[in-house]
Amino acid sequence: TIQIRDLHKSFGDLHVLRGVDLDVQPGEVVAVLGRSGSGKSTMLRCVNLLETPTSGTITVGGTTAFAHRKPAKGRDLVALRRKVGMLFQALNVFPHLSVVENVALPMVRSLGTGHEEAVDTAIRLLGKVGLVEKALSMPGQLSGGQLQRVALARALAMNPLALLFDEPTSALDPESTMDVLNVMKDLSAEGMTMIIVTHEVKFALDVADTVLMIADGKVIERGTPAQISENPQEQLTRKFLAEHT
Ligand code: ATP
Ligand code: MG
Repeated sequence: TIQIRDLHKSFGDLHVLRGVDLDVQPGEVVAVLGRSGSGKSTMLRCVNLLETPTSGTITVGGTTAFAHRKPAKGRDLVALRRKVGMLFQALNVFPHLSVVENVALPMVRSLGTGHEEAVDTAIRLLGKVGLVEKALSMPGQLSGGQLQRVALARALAMNPLALLFDEPTSALDPESTMDVLNVMKDLSAEGMTMIIVTHEVKFALDVADTVLMIADGKVIERGTPAQISENPQEQLTRKFLAEHT
C-alpha cells in the first residue's frame, strides 16, 4: 500500500532523513519509535507531501507521491491526500462547526457527497469513535480526547487507504489518551492500514505488526513487537525502551 524508498529530506544544511525505506502492506500497523528530533514527523509529513522530500520515491496505493525529485501535482496530489488521512498532536477541528458538521462537511466538499448522506455517514462514524451523543455539540464544549476522536472520524470520512498518526495523544490527559488509543486499536482490528508515531511504547508494542526504531533520520532497527521488546539488537533501541516503559 505504501512504499518508501531511499527517502532523504534536508532543511537547508540539516540532513534530517538519510535514506528511509519502508513498506506498509494493506492492513498492516507500523509503529515508529525514536527520540525527539530523529525525523519521525518529517517522515510522516513526507508521505502525504506536507513536506517535499529532497530525494527518493514514495508511492501510495499505486499513486506516485514523489519520484524523480518531483512531488505529485494536480489530480495525483488530490488523490494522495484522499488516500492518506493524518492525525496530528494539535487538536484541529473547525471551531465554528458542530461535531457532526465537522465530519460531514469534508465529505460534501471533497467527495461531492450529498449533505443528507454525509450526515448519515458522519453519525455512523461518530458512533465508531464513541461520540454519537456529542454530534450536535460545538467543539468548544468537548475535551481534548473527544476533539481528537472527532478529527479521527473526519479522517475516516474520506474513506482513506491508510491513516498516519503523529503523536495523537501527546497533548491529552491519561484518560483521554486511553479513549483515543482504544479507538485506534479498534481500527487496527478492522484492518485499517496505519503508521503510528508515538511515545506510548506499551501501546505501540501491543497494537503494531511492525515496529521501527528511527535514529538520526535512519531506520536503525525494525521487527515484530516481540523481537523489538524481547531481543533488541541496537543499544539505542534498548535505551529507548528502558526509558519509555
Ligand atoms: P519529536 O519526537 O520531538 O516530535 P521528530 O522525530 O518528530 O521529533 P522532526 O520533527 O521530524 O523530529 O524533526 C527532525 C529534525 O528536523 C529536527 O532537528 C527539527 O528541528 C528539524 N526540522 C523539522 N522541521 C523543520 C523545518 N520546517 N525547518 C527546519 N528544520 C526542521
Ligand atoms: Mg514529531
